Amino acid sequence: MSRPQMKLTADLNRCIGAGQCVLIEPDVFEQEPTDGTVRLRRDRLPAASSEAVRQAVQLCPVKALRLKE
Ligand code: SF4
Repeated sequence: MSRPQMKLTADLNRCIGAGQCVLIEPDVFEQEPTDGTVRLRRDRLPAASSEAVRQAVQLCPVKALRLKE
């Protein structure tokens, strides 16, 4: 049986390139070199390894990140 996974999305219309998410979890988030908007290094995450990602989602100042169980 497959392990539970979560799906991560980023709304680039909201992202202001604050970089908070990159500071919290650089394995998952990175910033576009041109305008600083977020880029996802991956969008499917094992549920068990997602604490830092949850924190990044919560702390994004414009709520651009979503995590679906
Ligand atoms: S914390 Fe939010 S606004 Fe800042 S780069 Fe990440 S997604 Fe964009």
